[in-house]
Amino acid sequence: MVEISCRAIVMDIEGTTSAARFVYDVLFPYAREHMAEWVTEHRDDPATAAAVAEVAGDLGVPAADTEAVVSQLVRWIDEDVKAAPLKTIQGLIWAQGYARGDLTSHVFDDVVPALEAWRGEGLTLAIYSSGSVAAQRSLFAHSPHGDLNGLIAANFDITTAGPKREAESYRRIAEAMAVDPTELLFLSDIQAELDAAREAGWQVVGLLREGEAQATASRDPHVGTFADILISAG
Ligand SMILES: [Mg+2]
Repeated sequence: MVEISCRAIVMDIEGTTSAARFVYDVLFPYAREHMAEWVTEHRDDPATAAAVAEVAGDLGVPAADTEAVVSQLVRWIDEDVKAAPLKTIQGLIWAQGYARGDLTSHVFDDVVPALEAWRGEGLTLAIYSSGSVAAQRSLFAHSPHGDLNGLIAANFDITTAGPKREAESYRRIAEAMAVDPTELLFLSDIQAELDAAREAGWQVVGLLREGEAQATASRDPHVGTFADILISAG
């Protein structure tokens, strides 16, 4: 059990609120499978057109070269490259998958009772994940426990806040939330992210969940589930 006094809690998703295997075994293959169809059918939609133009620009090919753009997007999925245009298009594909009922997300059973208790104590809750804000909100909207977005006051991603392993990103989030860094708690399974948040003056707790092999949290106080985090409102 870890005891923390804070005003707001910012959470990572993969390995923290949700199983990383859901992202790697369900979401990534789903985006991969639907990428060519999506880019072809939505080339005139502003968000997709802008993302396609960015990929084409990187490659030095015309935006009309759908084959080259799709190949690059699929390569980024396979190599787990956190590229903004990929994140944008994946978010759109997943939103459609959830809406169609093809996808239901994963959230660990201990998460919802903890979030409800923390909200009940007046804490502000937010998400900071490398997945786009749209993808984060889709995932929370279509959880096995229903729509959880009502519990979340703010969402941050790498395009709005910056990379997760840089202290500057956490300074930016603290400023956007208008909360003093010392009153903020960050929860993540990755030590480098916890280190960056701590460098920005935040409190941190690592998650080492059973079966989450990618987790590296080690040096900071860490817990196995959200039920082991005891919060008092600061
Ligand atoms: Mg994580």
